[in-house]
Amino acid sequence: MKPASFDYYSPASADEAVALLQKFEDDGVDAKIVAGGQSLMPMLAMRVARPEALIDLRRAVGLDHIGENNGVIAVGAMASKSAAEESPLIRAKQPLFHAATRLVGHRQIRNRGSVGGSFAHADPASEYPAVALVLGMEMKVLGPSGPRLIPADEFFVTYMTTSMESTEILTEVRMPALPAGTGWAIQEFARRNGDLALAGVALTLPVAGGKCGDVRIAAFGVNATAVRLTIAEEALRGQPADQTSFARAAAAGAQALEEPMTCLHASAEYRRHLVQTLTARCLAEAAGRSGH
Ligand SMILES: Cc1cc2nc3c(=O)[nH]c(=O)nc-3n(C[C@H](O)[C@H](O)[C@H](O)COP(=O)(O)OP(=O)(O)OC[C@H]3O[C@@H](n4cnc5c(N)ncnc54)[C@H](O)[C@@H]3O)c2cc1C
Repeated sequence: MKPASFDYYSPASADEAVALLQKFEDDGVDAKIVAGGQSLMPMLAMRVARPEALIDLRRAVGLDHIGENNGVIAVGAMASKSAAEESPLIRAKQPLFHAATRLVGHRQIRNRGSVGGSFAHADPASEYPAVALVLGMEMKVLGPSGPRLIPADEFFVTYMTTSMESTEILTEVRMPALPAGTGWAIQEFARRNGDLALAGVALTLPVAGGKCGDVRIAAFGVNATAVRLTIAEEALRGQPADQTSFARAAAAGAQALEEPMTCLHASAEYRRHLVQTLTARCLAEAAGRSGH
């Protein structure tokens, strides 16, 4: 199928894009931002989405930076996933985000798909929302009244829904550098390499004196949005960083999941089982990386 017809706009700046969104909102025109098009274009082709106007961010300057300021790594929303994957800064200072990026789709999709697009799209099976919860990331958005920062736990609302207003665009995502002595891991299960995950787990595990510190764990592909496994986190805090603690926490975390999704490929119970297995494996992998 081919997309329904739409008007095409190519603003030269983020401000211009926001002004267009505001104008269309005022005129009652259904407008959508397009970034890399890797999720939106198939939706247009299948006519799941039929916006009357498309606002393409590719020519908008100043949205594709990758840099660090005072220990905070900032990635422009229009930086491609390949640029994030190839960034020496991200590889060295935030290896969890780097590893998550490499799990997204195939190389061709990472070449075209933007980092910001995956945050804005908020697919429950996407790796980035889970990593954002684990790292306590912040999203910088721009609207008619200026920029604002939204913490990750307020950004992802539910299935493909964020707390951005319809006249706002995402301009940057921010994350802290990984502290020394903190292990990390991300693992997922997909039917084929490059597919969106049936379930996945991302976590950070600080270890000091053989004991777990402030562990942060999130699962994706399981509920309508990525979820923190707080029961597992609490079960680990102050406990020995060993297989017994990891197995107990993984079981408690998976058991506490609220109504995992069911689909053609995986039942709720299968997803729960995947989360338990992947959490235990991630904890063991992260403990190794923590130097423990
Ligand atoms: C075969 C295949 C496999 C895939 N596998 C994975 C995977 O394993 N993991 C994964 O996470 N993704 C996967 N994807 C999706 C892919 O990563 C997309 O690149 C990503 O979801 C969207 O990025 P994009 O730049 O292409 O955004 P687009 O498709 O252009 O836009 C997606 C949505 O976000 C909105 N949007 C985009 N940028 C902004 C912005 N700056 N401000 C406000 N709104 C914005 C758009 O309006 C649209 O609603 C896969 C896609 C395909 C086709």
